[in-house]
Amino acid sequence: MKHAFRRVTLRERIILVWGKLRRFYYHQCNTRYIKENHARRTGECARCGACCWLAHPCPSLAWEEDGLTYCKIHKRRAKNCRIFPIDEKDLRDRDFILPDTPCGYSFRPKRPNNCGDSDNCDKPDGKKQHSQQDSNSNQ
Ligand code: SF4
Repeated sequence: MKHAFRRVTLRERIILVWGKLRRFYYHQCNTRYIKENHARRTGECARCGACCWLAHPCPSLAWEEDGLTYCKIHKRRAKNCRIFPIDEKDLRDRDFILPDTPCGYSFRPKRPNNCGDSDNCDKPDGKKQHSQQDSNSNQ
């Protein structure tokens, strides 16, 4: 079934244009941010086409008979399209267009990798960290 994309408000359109600029900045100037976030990304594209409708309808977007979308220039598609979604902000932007159907991708929460004051701070190896106060009391 073909999805009905929502008409966005002017405010939402401005946010969507900003999101495009944000992604452009990341793939031009901060690919490390993209790699770090893609490492947390799970799932796969469900071919809803919502990310091809951000700010303006992409002329390369097309539909199969079953309603799934495809890109007419998939192998030559722009970098902004290849990296989507980079992070939760992109998913929030995308939800303006298709709020009732989630993107096929999601993100695992970020984990702090340095020991702070929180007892809930996890080390990258999955072991619970302890607060500075705990280490002092063990001495
Ligand atoms: S919004 Fe998500 S599921 Fe839909 S086409 Fe884009 S990447 Fe795929």
